[in-house]
Amino acid sequence: MKLHNFSAGPCVLPKEVILKASEALLDFDNGLSLIEISHRSKAFVDVMEKARSLALELLGLEGKGYKALFLQGGASMQFLQVALNLLEKRAGYLNTGTWSDKAIKEAKLYDDIYEVASSKDAGYNYIPKGYDIPSDYDYFHCTSNNTIFGTQMKQFPKCDIPMVCDMSSDIFSRTLDFSQFDLIYAGAQKNMGPAGTTLVIVKEDILGKVSRKIPSMMDYKIHIGKSSMFNTPPVFAVYTSMLTMEWLKNLGGIKAIEEENEKKARLMYSEIDLNPLFKGYAAKDDRSYMNATFTLLNEDLKETFDTMCKEAGINGINGHRSVGGYRASMYNALSLDSVKALVEIMSELESKA
Ligand SMILES: *Cc1c(COP(=O)(O)O)cnc(C)c1O
Repeated sequence: MKLHNFSAGPCVLPKEVILKASEALLDFDNGLSLIEISHRSKAFVDVMEKARSLALELLGLEGKGYKALFLQGGASMQFLQVALNLLEKRAGYLNTGTWSDKAIKEAKLYDDIYEVASSKDAGYNYIPKGYDIPSDYDYFHCTSNNTIFGTQMKQFPKCDIPMVCDMSSDIFSRTLDFSQFDLIYAGAQKNMGPAGTTLVIVKEDILGKVSRKIPSMMDYKIHIGKSSMFNTPPVFAVYTSMLTMEWLKNLGGIKAIEEENEKKARLMYSEIDLNPLFKGYAAKDDRSYMNATFTLLNEDLKETFDTMCKEAGINGINGHRSVGGYRASMYNALSLDSVKALVEIMSELESKA
C-alpha cells in the first residue's frame, strides 16, 4: 500500500533523497561510510560547501552579503542565539503562536522584549496586521509559518531595522524577496532534511554590534570564520539536506515547487470549505500552504474517519496536542496524489454520513 505521510515534522522527504542518503551510509568515499570519515576530509568539506552555497542560491541571496551556516541545537537554540548576537537594548517580536512565544521567552532572558502584536487572544488563528515597529529597536522577529496553528504570513512589514525570521516550516516552499530579511533560520526537519541541523542565513553586517561576551559556540561570527566547521558538524543531516536542495534545484527551484504547493493547498482547503463535516481552524486570509488545520464537527464520526484514513495509508494527520483536531502538513516532498487521497476520504465520509 502507498503511504501518504502528512507528518508535521520530522516530515516526508523525497524518496530519491532517502535512497541516496542510505547509500552514503554504506559507501560514501572509497568504501567508507559518510558517518565514519573525517568531517575535515575533502569529501565532506565539499558537501558542506555545496550545502551552504545551494541554500543561498535557492533563496537568491548569492553575492548579497549573506552567509549560510548549518548549526545544531534546533530552531529552539536559535531563539536564544539570535538574542545573544543581536539584542543590545530592546527588540520587537510578533507573537503568532507557540514557537514565537517560545522565542520571546528565551530572548527575554537577555534583554527587553516588546510584543509588537499578538494573536493569542483568538487562539493564534490569525496573523496580526497594521502594527508599528519602532525604528530604534535592535531587530524585529517574526515566524513566517505557524506550524501548529496553520497560519502563514503572506506579507512582511516594511522594517527599518534588521528583520529576523523563523522559517522552519516553510523555507524553500514559496518565492519571496528573501533579501528583506537579515537573518533567517530553519530547523531542517520540516522541509529540508532529517532532524539534527539548523540552517542559519545571516547578513554579515548586522553582526558584531552587541557589547556582551558571546560564548564561542553561540557566536555566529565564529561559525562564519570557520566555514560552519567550528566543531564537528552533524554530517548526516547536512548531507541529506544538501541532497534535498539538489532535488529542489533539479525540479526548477522554489518557483516550481511553489506551483505544486499552491495546487495542493487549493485542493485541501476547497475540500475543508465545501465539506459540511469539516471546519478550518485558521482565518482564511492567513491560511498556511504547508500545514492545514481543521476539525471534524461531529465527534461521533471520528472513529470512522480515523479508520478510513488508516486503511488508505494516510499517516500523521492528528492535530498538535495544543489545538486538537487534524493537521495535514503538505511540505515540499508530499505529492499532490497524497492530498488527493486524503480529500477522497473526506468526501467519502460525507457521502456515508
Ligand atoms: C518545529 C519548529 C520549531 C522548533 O524546532 P526544533 O528544531 O525542534 O527546535 C521552531 N519554529 C518553528 C516554526 C517550528 O515549526
